[in-house]
Amino acid sequence: MTTIRFGRLVLPGERLGVIEEYLPGTGVKALKSGHLVAAYGGYAEYDRRNHIVSVRPLRAVRKPVVGDTVLARVREIQEKVIWSDVLVILGSKLTTSYSGALLRKGQGLDYVPGDIYLAKVVDELSGIYTLSVEGKELGLVQGFCDICGRPLTLKLNHLECRQCRRAYRKKISVHYQRPEFLKNVPLEAWAMRGS
Ligand SMILES: [Zn+2]
Repeated sequence: MTTIRFGRLVLPGERLGVIEEYLPGTGVKALKSGHLVAAYGGYAEYDRRNHIVSVRPLRAVRKPVVGDTVLARVREIQEKVIWSDVLVILGSKLTTSYSGALLRKGQGLDYVPGDIYLAKVVDELSGIYTLSVEGKELGLVQGFCDICGRPLTLKLNHLECRQCRRAYRKKISVHYQRPEFLKNVPLEAWAMRGS
């Protein structure tokens, strides 16, 4: 006999009980008043044996964890950090995008907004993931020209824009422009450019 009961569909902020009755599980916030509310929409799940209430999201969403390989897209460049959107966890599916911070220290990363790269999650702090592109598998898998926005072509030891004839040196992955490696990556991720 199962002790977990799949409850009704709840909306974000909906009350699910009180702290005296249940402990807040995944997707549940405890308010100062002692009320437990849903952090997002989904199915309320009451575990009566362990006295935990949680909310199962409507779609299976997995958060990145340290050690995951992810596909990320550059959003904004700052002096020390390349802010990125984590698009996909390899071998999984993300339905929400998370923020990734790729540190620039000593890596000479000449990435620009829109560039798509493979990275490893090396740390997590308050929902922001620190990414690394160390290792030959990691790095740029699709770069774009600063000037005209066209995809860059891989030459012997650099990238080049065929239109502008401009050369780029960036930390690339051995999988550059080989999306067949990323079988689980939705095609939209490749077509999208930074907005
Ligand atoms: Zn160009």
